Amino acid sequence: MDLSYGPEDIAFRTTVRGFIAETLAPATREKVKTGRHLDKHDYVDWQKALYRKGWIAPQWPVEHGGTGWTATQRHIFEEELAYGFCPRLIPFGLKMVAPVIMKFGSQAQKDRYLPRILSSEDWWCQGYSEPGSGSDLASLQTKAVRDGDHYVVNGMKTWTTYAQHADMMFCLVRTSSAGKRQEGISFLLLDMHSPGISVRPIQTIDGSAEINEVRFDEVRVPANNLVGEENKGWTYAKYLLGHERTGIAGVAHSKEQIKRLKAIAAAERAGDRSLLETPRFRDKISSVEIDLMALEMTELRTVYAESAGRAPGPEASILKIRGTEIQQAITELLFEAVGHYAFPVEDEREGANEPPIGPDYAGQLAPTYFNWRKSSIYGGSNEIQKNIIAKLVLGL
Ligand SMILES: Cc1cc2nc3c(=O)[nH]c(=O)nc-3n(C[C@H](O)[C@H](O)[C@H](O)COP(=O)(O)OP(=O)(O)OC[C@H]3O[C@@H](n4cnc5c(N)ncnc54)[C@H](O)[C@@H]3O)c2cc1C
Repeated sequence: MDLSYGPEDIAFRTTVRGFIAETLAPATREKVKTGRHLDKHDYVDWQKALYRKGWIAPQWPVEHGGTGWTATQRHIFEEELAYGFCPRLIPFGLKMVAPVIMKFGSQAQKDRYLPRILSSEDWWCQGYSEPGSGSDLASLQTKAVRDGDHYVVNGMKTWTTYAQHADMMFCLVRTSSAGKRQEGISFLLLDMHSPGISVRPIQTIDGSAEINEVRFDEVRVPANNLVGEENKGWTYAKYLLGHERTGIAGVAHSKEQIKRLKAIAAAERAGDRSLLETPRFRDKISSVEIDLMALEMTELRTVYAESAGRAPGPEASILKIRGTEIQQAITELLFEAVGHYAFPVEDEREGANEPPIGPDYAGQLAPTYFNWRKSSIYGGSNEIQKNIIAKLVLGL
């Protein structure tokens, strides 16, 4: 594997970095940098800026609006987005449902939805999980019954990220109870503004409301919003999950967070020296940094394999497990670095003007720590990823 970047790659990095510096709103950048909550417009404004530049979907085929970049350029781009503290691109449209529509959707679905995903006109959410159907997704119960040229949907989804913002949901529904469970599932594209849909926020331990319950009561969905064939949704759902797990390792984001950890540890006192100078804390940082370097090599191996024309395989599961373990380890160290000053949580509500208790950087560390417990659960829990590795990599 050749790890050196050529002069064109270095020039490309400079161009991307310059664009981000000029374009990203400073207030949004600061929110990302300090781990504060982002509003819908922070995400959408940034996505629209990338769309205007033609850079919103580098991984898409050129004929649908991709950039035609090499795998190395795409990797550099992802890195620069993280180094520049850009809001993460909401993956549900761009990275998840779009590849499914491209591969299995009708021409009418491609014509309608792909341009609206590119321009961020539609915000998508993912309707897979239900109460009692997470890892065991094939047990899902939300029913769709054909009625003329519509399906009538009844049931409930849960943990639906950003359903409160969404215009569209890609949704797994049960269209048959005969035969194997997987063979009675269909993949529907559902307008979130349809009558009969209600969204109830679920507040998470950090106080935020990213996730929701979504109920369907006699929701009528045009039958031409079915993707592919009825009862074949499981195949499309699995295809989508392969896309969900790539890019989940978050190496560049973790590198930035380690820089932040070092800066905070340098500012914190431990007796007569800074925390960063204490051998015990330095060891902890080094240990997670070494793990991150190893993960980066694994990620680069997949980038290199992709440049050589090989499709990513089950190694996406390795990236997901190690990436999320490292992200969680860093949030633990950030929390530890400020000690009890992590507990008084900063009030982010508009108009709040209480001065921070403790240093400025401490107010968001506890919510971030608690929020990131999610990363080993979503996108297929880490235990499920280990099962995949056992089966597909180790052949157990
Ligand atoms: C913050 C967040 C956002 C999410 N966003 C979405 C979303 O937008 N859309 C959506 O559809 N879903 C979403 N999810 C749901 C997520 O995909 C599920 O939580 C996940 O698949 C686990 O399912 P579960 O919660 O039902 O847990 P369960 O499947 O009940 O698992 C409970 C525990 O048992 C373990 N376990 C289960 N089965 C096995 C097994 N066979 N072998 C070993 N261990 C096992 C699991 O690893 C876990 O530790 C989100 C979840 C979170 C936390």
